[in-house]
Parts: sequence; structure tokens; C-alpha cells
Amino acid sequence: MDAALKNPCELEIDLFCNGLRVDPSCNLAEDARKLSRIRAGLGSGLEVVLPGPRKDLWMNVPVEEDFALRSPYTLIKRGGGYLVRDGRGGQEYPVRIPDQPEWYTARTSKGTEMCKVGVLQGTYLGIYISNSCTYWYSSPAMNCRFCTTGSNVGVNEMADKDVEDVVEVARAAREKSDAWFVHFNTGYQGGKDLDLVAPYVKAVKERVGALIGVQCMPTLEMEKYDWLVDLGTDHFSFCYEFHNPEYFQRFLPGKHKTIGQETFFRALEYTSRKLGKGAVSGEIIAGVEPIEDTLRAIDYITGAGAFPTVCIFRPVIGADMESWPSPKYEDMLRVFRHVYEACRRNSIPIGLTPNIEVSLIVQPDDTRYLAPPGLPTRLYDLKLAAMSLVAKPLFATRRRPRRIAVDASTPPAPRGARPAAHAA
Ligand code: SF4
Repeated sequence: MDAALKNPCELEIDLFCNGLRVDPSCNLAEDARKLSRIRAGLGSGLEVVLPGPRKDLWMNVPVEEDFALRSPYTLIKRGGGYLVRDGRGGQEYPVRIPDQPEWYTARTSKGTEMCKVGVLQGTYLGIYISNSCTYWYSSPAMNCRFCTTGSNVGVNEMADKDVEDVVEVARAAREKSDAWFVHFNTGYQGGKDLDLVAPYVKAVKERVGALIGVQCMPTLEMEKYDWLVDLGTDHFSFCYEFHNPEYFQRFLPGKHKTIGQETFFRALEYTSRKLGKGAVSGEIIAGVEPIEDTLRAIDYITGAGAFPTVCIFRPVIGADMESWPSPKYEDMLRVFRHVYEACRRNSIPIGLTPNIEVSLIVQPDDTRYLAPPGLPTRLYDLKLAAMSLVAKPLFATRRRPRRIAVDASTPPAPRGARPAAHAA
């Protein structure tokens, strides 16, 4: 039996694949953030921090799904602290369990419980701004097959987010949890996705100040991205999930019928050119389509100057894919080694934004723990250190509140010709 300790990123990957059992010694009701079954459901696990010499890794470990109940890993409370024990070799890893932020149970001035407006996922504030994704309400339903949003929004969180509520929650998260990144997500809103998110972006940028990310269904109306940037958006992410067109069609019937994979590519490329290297991300799920397709996706995303946010497939309770197997550790290790190599090869600036730890994924900068020793790795380290010096004052300026003159209620007029087609 191999009793070698895993490094923090290897452990993170294995925990995403296997989940974690919770020993009766644990007192998570008092010590941990409550489990939040919101949005797609991918953040429905336990928030855990894996300490490491280079950086601590934040992750959201599956604890309730069937595969997690069979995990070789157990969370144990010992001597006032927590550790994860691997039952296969007896290895033990000290971990930290982040507290539930005190503002979760506070109420906005309109009386809304703050955690029903937004929650921390790692160290950033995630807000699902609108009515549940309309893919859930077509007949037959066109929801993405891994998702449980239709069962969560309106039940576990508010269906319609009020702008004032959002501003107050963003302010509380910034002041009390040092959360400087606010991420807005909409699901599919019939093509009005970017229009809907605009007033929230402007209000938070003007009145709170933060780095702002937007994750909406893409459009070919590129002028809307220019508008969102003028309103204060710092980052766009595009969840196209599967690179293989057949998997895209089969598992994302709504995205296939209403948007098409090509639109994701064009919007990603446009915004990446506009905002610069490393400001945009392409989000994919690893562990469903063949690994070679996932590797191709990573090459495509990094080649476009974006960074890959790779989510290890989680067969979430209540999803159509609930009974699918969780991915194999060895496959995922291969994927994340590739993430590191592709980011290095394309000089993608990773890990430069201050205090943004995303617990739902293995972040690209987490994969530094997987880097092979040698000159290319050392040169990339030096490049990132130099970029970090330049980026620091830039982020400090961008996260300050500032007056925005642009009108958030009126989308720009169509600009006419659309950008040329792309072949990924
Ligand atoms: S677009 Fe897909 S993943 Fe996103 S909320 Fe809708 S069904 Fe869920």
C-alpha cells in the first residue's frame, strides 16, 4: 500500500472525485458553513481549506452524494482541529473548516436573509440574480443534465434578487469577509441575460466597489459586452461544459437548441481580446466526455488567452445525472497537469487576483503543485511574479467604488455585422 502523502492539489482532486465521509467526532453545525444547495448544486458540499506551503486551497467537498458516503476519506475532529484521514493508507492531512460568515443570518433593510441573496463559494460572493433558468420550464425540459437549479432557486434562495438587497449583501461580504469578487450568474433568460445583469453590475461597482464577474448565456451581440465592461464588469466566464459537440448536444439540450456551441466560442474570443489575457474564463466539466476532448478544450481556451475553469463532474443529488459515476482520480490528475502545462505554454496570468479562491473547481494556480520541476516551470514562476507586481495596483484601482456614467437600463443598439465565424 502506498503510504506517500499527496500534495494539496492531488488531495483536492482526489477529494473532488471521492468525496468525504463525516466522522461523528465532527461538529459541523457549529464549526462550518452550512451546506448551500443553491444554483446548479455544484457548491452543495462542505467548504474546506487544504493548507499548503505555496498557497492554501479552498474546495467544496461532496459529502452527501452516494459516492461520498463510500469515500475512503473521513473528516475527523481531533484536539479542537480537523483532519482528513485516508483509510487506504492511514495518511492524515490537517485541514481548516471555514466559519459561517456572521452576516449570513443578518437581514437586509428590506428584511431578506442575506444568505438567500448570495453566499461565499471559497472567498468570493456568488449571486444568482434572477428567476430560475428558463430551460427548466420548457416542455420537454431542456435543462443541462448535471444541474439542479430548477429545484433550488425560489426554494433555497430568493428567485428575484432586489438590487438594493444585492448591494447590501455585497457590502457585508466585503466588509466582514473581505470578499472582493462578486460573481453574477443568470442561467438562461431567453436572450435577455446580459440586459438583466447590467443594473446589478453598475450598482455594485458604483456603491460597493469590487471586482465583478458575469456568467451569462453568450450572445453574438458583441456591443453588449462592451456595454457591460463600461458598466464595471472585470471578468466574463462562459460555461460551455463540453468540447465534444455530441456531448454538448446530448447533455446540454437547451444550450444546444437556443445558443449553440459556436456562440460560446465567439463570445469567449471577443471578450478575451477586449479584456486581455487571463481576464476571461472558459468553464468546462471534466469526467463525462472523453478525456482527449477535455484536453482539447483546455488547449482551445488557453490558446484564446482565457483561463480554463475545470469543474470535476459531480453527480449531484436530484440531477438527471445523479447516478453517473464520479470521475477517476488518475484521469483528473492528467487533466489538471494539462491545465498547468497549457497555462504555462500560453503565458496565462494565473493566481494574480488578490484573495479570490473559488471552491467549486481546481483553480489553475492550484495546479502549480503538479508542475514538473525544471527550467520552464521556474521561468513561468518568474513571469507570474513580474506580472503580479504590475497587476497589484491595477486591481486596487479597479475594485474601488466609482461613478459610472453609462445607463444600465437601456442596452446598446445592435452594431450590425457580426464577427467572423470561428472553428475551435
Ligand atoms: S444553463 Fe444549464 S447549468 Fe445553467 S442554470 Fe440553466 S440548466 Fe442549470
